[in-house]
Amino acid sequence: PEGERLQKVLARAGMGSRRACEELIDQGRVEVNGRRVREQGRRVDPDRDEIKVDGLTVAAQSHLFFALNKPAGVVSSMEDPEGRQCLGDYVQNRETRLFHVGRLDTETEGLILLTNHGELAHRLTHPKYGVTKTYLAAVQGPIPRDLGRRLREGIDLEDGFARADDFRVVQNTGNNYLVEVSLHEGRKHIVRRMLSEAGFPVDRLVRTHFGPIALGDQKSGWLRRMTNTEVGRLM
Ligand code: URA
Repeated sequence: PEGERLQKVLARAGMGSRRACEELIDQGRVEVNGRRVREQGRRVDPDRDEIKVDGLTVAAQSHLFFALNKPAGVVSSMEDPEGRQCLGDYVQNRETRLFHVGRLDTETEGLILLTNHGELAHRLTHPKYGVTKTYLAAVQGPIPRDLGRRLREGIDLEDGFARADDFRVVQNTGNNYLVEVSLHEGRKHIVRRMLSEAGFPVDRLVRTHFGPIALGDQKSGWLRRMTNTEVGRLM
């Protein structure tokens, strides 16, 4: 028979034991391609069918999703021919090919997603999908009151306007400021260039959010498997 039993696929996606997954089906909490499934033993293709539990997409089984807190000095590629530190150095699982979802420039730290779902990796970085990214930047003050408005209205860069969605001052000690910038732009060095053009060169830049995924207090250099809930939100 084609496909795999739904409860088996659910269990492998981390939704609980097979027995628990049968219960999810009994309780009417599971949908396949938009239709509630109540009978046991339904066969699905984990790579094609869209499986949801409580309305959230379940990680398509053969797919792996990781979140890395990239340290400064690490190149955003899986391999580096010049032997510099790169994302691949943080990945132990080398059985499946992983793609990084977009890039952070070498000196920028923080959240970068890795997945073997090449199509999703590509889609998430496509401007059409406009995923919002949030960064913390260390700059020197004083910060004028209208900086947020200027960033939201758009900064004129050599390759065109760039707009922030949000801006706020997070911390201020003496002349040192920590500011948060959210935007759905993906151009190279965009945050550094916007702030610098506005008169605030960035001393340190950390990405704290990528769409619905948050870095939280994950330590620098640590890689973690994303939760099913997180993966569901990304899809
Ligand atoms: N903006 C930057 O300046 N650097 C990054 O890595 C990402 C956004």
